[in-house]
Amino acid sequence: MNKIADAPPVPATLIDAIRYFSDPDRALAFMVDLRWPNGVTCPTCGSQSVSFVKTRRVWTCRAQHPRKQFSVKIGTIFEDSPIGLDKWFAAMWLIGNAKNGISSYEIARGIRVTQKTAWFMLHRIRLAMQRGTFDKLAGEVEADETFIGGKARFMHAHKRAAKITGTGGKDKSAVMGLLERHGPDGHSRVRVKHVANTRRVTLAPEVRAHVEPGANVYTDALKSYDGLSDAYAHAVIDHAEAYVRGNVHTNGLENFWSLLKRAIKGTYVSVEPFHLFRYLDEEAYRFNTRKAKDGARFVDTLRAVVGKRVTYKSLTGKDLLPAGT
Ligand SMILES: [Zn+2]
Repeated sequence: MNKIADAPPVPATLIDAIRYFSDPDRALAFMVDLRWPNGVTCPTCGSQSVSFVKTRRVWTCRAQHPRKQFSVKIGTIFEDSPIGLDKWFAAMWLIGNAKNGISSYEIARGIRVTQKTAWFMLHRIRLAMQRGTFDKLAGEVEADETFIGGKARFMHAHKRAAKITGTGGKDKSAVMGLLERHGPDGHSRVRVKHVANTRRVTLAPEVRAHVEPGANVYTDALKSYDGLSDAYAHAVIDHAEAYVRGNVHTNGLENFWSLLKRAIKGTYVSVEPFHLFRYLDEEAYRFNTRKAKDGARFVDTLRAVVGKRVTYKSLTGKDLLPAGT
């Protein structure tokens, strides 16, 4: 077991985690400790005057109000799911710690649920992995963009731009990335976003929204980044001439694009544009926590599940069967 600040002792490896959480009471205690470190609290009225119904692993609030009975899953991505915490935790461990991503088919086989269920679990867990974007990137920041095709083919924006102006074509999704070279943990971190196109009107506001004024911003020679020098020290590397000039390069993002490419190509059969942002968030999360230990990453994900809910309808935009991803 590993020690993590403000968390119960956490298993160190996948096999330890599966063994540990296979006991439903242990899994429950672990989540209760993380969710209610100061004691179980009624989600409806905030009272701590609650009694535990051991046989059903739920609590009853002593106050008089509707929805007196609640489980630890209420108000989290686990709500309304009949899947036990043992399987949820195993799936979270697998998803958070799989270097190149993991498909719903692998999850389904690994924890013995149907592919449809695994798909839903994957998407809920990805939701938990989405980070808030409140703090701005600073210091040295790279900005770059790429296109992801229907068959997960990648092409750099330059090559696309030579053929198509700005939109990337109907079958391509434009993705913009920002990479801060020295993040809060001393390592680089990324933010990625599915954008409508790579025109200036789209890209420039993203830079302004996510990067602290005064930062050094490095981009390629794409015209869409013109006009940033009022707020930033903007330096351009023209990839037609060279890829690196001192500190001026976008190699950090190029590296991230290749990781993303490998994850999507190797793991997912197809990525529909509607879902693309979830895969981007997952890969960004994995990248940004790459220096953390597996157990710490698991705790981090589990902490984030509280307060996030997603329904099947909002995932698919329809009530049809999910695509084979
Ligand atoms: Zn209550």
